[in-house]
Formats: sequence, C-alpha cells, structure tokens
Amino acid sequence: MKYVGAHVSASGGVFNAPINAMAIGAKAFALFTKNQRQWTAKPLETKDIDRWFKELEKSKIQTKHILPHDSYLINLGHPETDARAKSFDGFVHEIQRCEILKLDRLNFHPGSHLRKISEEECLNNIAESMNRAIDITKDVKLVIENTAGQGSNLGYKFEHLAYIIDKIEDKSRVGVCIDTCHMFTAGYDIRTREDYDKTWKEFDEIVGRNYLMGMHINDSKPDLGSKVDRHDSLGVGKIGWDAFRFIMNDERMDDIPLVLETINEEIWAQEIETLYSFVK
Ligand SMILES: [Zn+2]
Ligand SMILES: [Zn+2]
Repeated sequence: MKYVGAHVSASGGVFNAPINAMAIGAKAFALFTKNQRQWTAKPLETKDIDRWFKELEKSKIQTKHILPHDSYLINLGHPETDARAKSFDGFVHEIQRCEILKLDRLNFHPGSHLRKISEEECLNNIAESMNRAIDITKDVKLVIENTAGQGSNLGYKFEHLAYIIDKIEDKSRVGVCIDTCHMFTAGYDIRTREDYDKTWKEFDEIVGRNYLMGMHINDSKPDLGSKVDRHDSLGVGKIGWDAFRFIMNDERMDDIPLVLETINEEIWAQEIETLYSFVK
C-alpha cells in the first residue's frame, strides 16, 4: 500500500503539520520540526507536544509515514573541524526533537566538500558524524537523501549512499530517501519503463532496497544529468507522468512516506489524488 503526502508547513507549531496534511488528503507528510534556516530553536513546549500527539491521532497518520527534514544549514561533511562540530550539534538537536515527537526517522542531505577536501574525505566525515550521533541518541533512523549534485553536494551517486552506509556501525539506524528530481538531474533516467527498471535495479544492487525509507516525489525543471536542483509540479516538468505511474505500482515504495515537494502547494491535494488514481 502507498502512503502519499507532502512537505507541509509546521509554522505556528509542529501540531499544524498533521492538520495541514489532513486538509490535503495526505496519508504521509514531511515537516521541519524547527526553522530550517536557523541554527537554534526554542525547546518544544509541553502544550505543543501534547497537541502534536492529539492532532496526529486525529489524522490517523502513522509515525513511519512521517519524514521530518533537518535544517539546510547542517553539513556533516564540512571540511573545517569547528564548522563540522557546529553542524554535528545541530544534527543531534534535530534527532532529539524527533525523539520527543516519537518520530522514527530523520531525512538529511549528506553534506558538501566545498571544494576544500576530496569526495572521499567528505564522505568519511559524514559517516563519522553519523556514527557519533547514533551513539548518543536512540531509535531515530538517519535517512540520507540523494542529491542533484549541485555545487559540491555529495550524494548524487548511489555509490555515495552505499559508501556511507557501509561505514555505519549500527545499520539498523540508517536509511535512504530518494528524491525523484534529484535522481533525474543527477543522471538517473526513470522516464520509460526500461530506464526506470534499469535505474532501480542499479539502486537495488548498489544501495539495497531494504534501506529505502522514504521518497520525495517531484518533477524536474532542468534536464536529465544537469545537476541542477529545481523541482516542478508533477507531469509538467522534464520527467513526466509515467515515472510516477511506475512508482505508484512498485512494491519497493510500499509502506514508506512518499512526499511531494512540488512547487505549487495549491494543487497538492490534486497531485495526491492523481497519484492514487494510478494504482492498479
Ligand atoms: Zn531534501
Ligand atoms: Zn527532496
């Protein structure tokens, strides 16, 4: 069974996320548990936490279908020790907020080498940061998102994801989230049945389907392999509807959050409905 939703707003309080999800007919959702463009946040207040659980219950959305996203400022692969330490602290803080909200997974972008260290050194920094974060927190799975490869961002190849996973000591605490726009602009074609199957076979072989713990369902404004990260509404970008039809009938994507990050939130309800109409 498929669980589709969108990255909804949590402004005004985390409890607004399930409310906003319900309003668009979502069975899954993503949220920022704090402002994604700031390092600090005031601690979650008890009344907000209570309301979060109340609204979540009303929405009937299960924890495993919620995919919180961490702050865009965090770079676990940062070439400089001090900046990496700041990112590490921010990351642990994000995990702790998930623990409080009883969320079982946290989605993040692996990191950037900023052209100051090699890809390999950067990937080692990321894995090391993750291992340390896992040691001092519990339960929350760290879900690495594939990237478009824009700038010096790593995670644009399945091999990058596999390299990091390989270095994680507690494999029960790691997963991946595949963003269809990032996948496509990184050079993985999914537009035809043949290309879709080829790409996902590669994913199965290199990363392993057991690690797939969420997806971001986006069309793409830029072309295949352009390494530019710009999402589009479903069906109107360079990917087109077929890929999303394949996803909705692919058992790899059963029982994980499938989250829209498309650019026009006014049509999210419609996009969710259209996706469900594809299920055979
Ligand atoms: Zn992301
Ligand atoms: Zn994404």
